[in-house]
Order: sequence, then structure tokens, then C-alpha cells
Amino acid sequence: MPIFEYVCQDCGALFEKLVMGREAAVSCPTCQSPDVAKQFSAFSTRTAAGFSGSMGAGCGCAPSG
Ligand SMILES: [Zn+2]
Repeated sequence: MPIFEYVCQDCGALFEKLVMGREAAVSCPTCQSPDVAKQFSAFSTRTAAGFSGSMGAGCGCAPSG
């Protein structure tokens, strides 16, 4: 069954919804907001923990000193 990923435009919550055939009214399970956007299934079953805003990372070398 086709499972689409949605992201809430209100609270930014990411959730999956099972869509049968046509697009049904999807609401955010967190804040029940109908303002959600369907995410493209560009990524294949890869769960992103979240992009941390850590800068300075380039190489895998640890700073010794
Ligand atoms: Zn929400």
C-alpha cells in the first residue's frame, strides 16, 4: 500500500499516512492542523534524525592537542 510522508506546515511534524487511491484529507496527528504538505518519496526508508546545526565538520580527524 502506498504510504506517503507528510509534513505539518503548522508545527513541522513529520508523519506518514496511508493513502488509498485518492488523496484523502490529511490532518496533523500532533496539532490536528489540516495544513500539511506531502513529501516526495525521494528518500528510501531512511530515517533522518534531524539536521543538527553543527558547523566546523569537514574531515574525520579529531582535534588533538
Ligand atoms: Zn502539526
